[in-house]
Amino acid sequence: QKKCIIIGAGIGGMATAVRLANKGYHVVVLEKNFRPGGKIGEIKKDGFRFDTGPSLFTLPSLVDELLNIGSTGDVPSFSYHQLDNVCRYFYEDGTQINAFEDPAEFADEINLQTGEPRKKILDYLKIAQKRYEAASDIFIFNPLNKALEVSKKLNPQKLKPLMKVNPLRTMHGENKQHFRSPQVVQLFDRYATYNGSSPYLASSMLNMISHLEHNSGAFFPDKGMYSIVEAIRKKAENSGIDFLFNTEVKELKISDTKVLSVRTNQGDFEADLFISDVDVNAFYRKPAASLKAPKSVKNPSLSSSALIFYWGMDRSFPDLEVHNILFSADYREEFKSLFKTRELFHDPTVYLFISSKTIKSDAPPGKENWFVMINVPPLGDRNWEELKQVARKNIIEKIKRVLKTDPTPYILFEEVATPHSIQEFTGSHKGALYGNNSNSIWSAFLRHKNQSTKYKNLFFTGGSVHPGGGIPLCLASASIVEKVIEKI
Ligand code: FAD
Repeated sequence: QKKCIIIGAGIGGMATAVRLANKGYHVVVLEKNFRPGGKIGEIKKDGFRFDTGPSLFTLPSLVDELLNIGSTGDVPSFSYHQLDNVCRYFYEDGTQINAFEDPAEFADEINLQTGEPRKKILDYLKIAQKRYEAASDIFIFNPLNKALEVSKKLNPQKLKPLMKVNPLRTMHGENKQHFRSPQVVQLFDRYATYNGSSPYLASSMLNMISHLEHNSGAFFPDKGMYSIVEAIRKKAENSGIDFLFNTEVKELKISDTKVLSVRTNQGDFEADLFISDVDVNAFYRKPAASLKAPKSVKNPSLSSSALIFYWGMDRSFPDLEVHNILFSADYREEFKSLFKTRELFHDPTVYLFISSKTIKSDAPPGKENWFVMINVPPLGDRNWEELKQVARKNIIEKIKRVLKTDPTPYILFEEVATPHSIQEFTGSHKGALYGNNSNSIWSAFLRHKNQSTKYKNLFFTGGSVHPGGGIPLCLASASIVEKVIEKI
């Protein structure tokens, strides 16, 4: 039986492990932390439970598919529900928009709140859907170097939506041309942040991201985001996969063409295949420092990081939904701060996520678990103790202005995640959430491939390599690695 080592038990690593075990490999997962999940984490404290990383869950069928692979009836239980309201948007001028799950209702709501013609919304979502469907066939579920080959085999009709995209136009440029209302433009510009990029720089191609929430739907696991990890772990263990926690890969031992073994704090491990789920920018800097890093890793254009406050709140707030966005009054300046001047912005867009609105057991009765996040530049070495105080003040001022309430007296306790702590815990370079950003038309083509060109038994999975960051794309990367390995 061939042996395969997966470095890192993030979702991409675990999904790859399940797929390879199903193909008959003996799989061992080496994870530096005491638990699996990487960026998907949770905190439990004083009767509250917080998902600490991802909170937006789309394409749940990809998790179902993974849990059912090679199933002999022992599928771990995993359930989720669709959210009626994808997100509640708040603007400084008092406007509120509810992004209802049903596209027609969403279009009605936007029309009511902003005057934007409903047809404009429905047309936009149709275009996003067609673009996504074409891109997913060619790009998302296939190795990067096969994109051209696959596209040649496709019905030209299916490629049309991609041909119509002007890749030189930015997401914002396209949105501004499509919609009259600046508030609607801002709402759809926001999807650039789903891979840590700027709508003023990223290609309009990425406007397809909104399709996932507004056509396919926004979901939430019945037991929280961390239950995704627990279900996949169970599946992996049922498939005979060994997990070794507190096991950090320190070095790769290589020949001219192959990886021979890895050195860890628990000893050396040999295998036939090695798959890294480690953030690729960190991988080449530490355990694989002896390998030649590609240009995109040597000089990375990193995606944004995050500063997150987890607040146990002593009351409930009926005006809030599960997902809430309090938009900056100056979005352009906010992104300039993120990607150009690399400073904290005084009027940040605040993302307020309250899972206890949909999972009652996530907070004691009458209380709420607030996850309050702003995007920040991925600066690992700054003094986050100081910056965190500045950001906290800006966030509280924003909440006071927009929600007309001061949250301070209700905060029972506070935990904080900074780019520094994200880097420490998940191993991502400078705490960037999604590896490199997509702020160039070439970004998608410059993402690290899923197989090393020099070391034939070295593969890459997870959010920092092709096809990109976020849970669905990490799951896609695992299926690509499976396909690539099948061909060797
Ligand atoms: P990672 O989660 O990056 O895990 C890598 C693992 O490798 C870690 O467990 C780490 O400890 C381990 N490791 C690192 N170095 C070593 C080593 N040398 N030896 C052994 N183990 C090692 N996505 C969404 O879909 N929706 C969202 O709403 C969303 N929001 C996010 C919010 C935040 C705050 C963050 C941090 C991420 C968010 N994401 C979101 C992105 C999503 O979480 C990631 O894309 C995804 O979880 C990354 O998975 P991965 O497979 O790349 O592995």
